[in-house]
Amino acid sequence: MAGVRKAFGANVVLSGVDLTVDRGECVVLIGASGSGKSTLLRCANLLETVDDGVITFEGEDITDPRVNGDEVRSRMGLVFQSYNLFPHLSVLGNVTLALRKVHGVSSAEADQRGLAMLDRVGLAEKSKARPDDLSGGQQQRVAIARALVANPRLMLLDEVTSALDPELVGEVLDLLSDLKSEGVTMVLNTHEMGFARDVADTVCFLHDGVVHETGTPAQVIGDPQQERTRAFLSRIR
Ligand code: ATP
Ligand code: MG
Repeated sequence: MAGVRKAFGANVVLSGVDLTVDRGECVVLIGASGSGKSTLLRCANLLETVDDGVITFEGEDITDPRVNGDEVRSRMGLVFQSYNLFPHLSVLGNVTLALRKVHGVSSAEADQRGLAMLDRVGLAEKSKARPDDLSGGQQQRVAIARALVANPRLMLLDEVTSALDPELVGEVLDLLSDLKSEGVTMVLNTHEMGFARDVADTVCFLHDGVVHETGTPAQVIGDPQQERTRAFLSRIR
């Protein structure tokens, strides 16, 4: 994305964000509360329309008003802090819903792919359970499986561990780390600096509506060059 601008009324949240994500890359967005991390992910997914700038996805300008947002979103996986699973559907039903309803996959094939994906996130034995019968960490892994099952070209993950009890955070971060090793392209917001340091290829510090500092975790977290980055990191440590 280049020059992305987004304001809510007089509140200019993004004032010219430039960000490139390569295939297989894991980009971690960090920044103070209210710095626009969630807004950036929502713009990337066309849940918000940008005021200015261009977002290119798989070679296509998706900010073009003629673009079909649903079609673009079907090529991305978005996971939120709150897992938003459907309580009346089984775990497998949740994972396969979009495959059946959006991607037109037959029930038999959807079930097969859904079970394979649940196996990948370590929850094959929970396929028939209801979301409410799972722990928070398990529910979030189901939400990640649901986002992954249609083979998205890009995963957007917004604070996927921040609603979890501390002892459940690790299992979700371990899963994300596995996905990164498998070559899944990811952009995620997190306050987990240890994860960012270990797994991210690139860390972007959002401040004042722009990517204020970017580089490898060793650069941005280990040896920040900007005063604002240092101040932010010292506050959260
Ligand atoms: P946090 O770390 O707390 O999740 P964030 O970096 O994700 O923060 P955003 O949620 O993107 O920040 O919010 C950035 C700013 O945009 C805030 O001032 C927020 O109030 C504003 N904002 C976000 N969404 C909307 C909306 N739909 N309508 C109006 N203002 C909004
Ligand atoms: Mg947020």
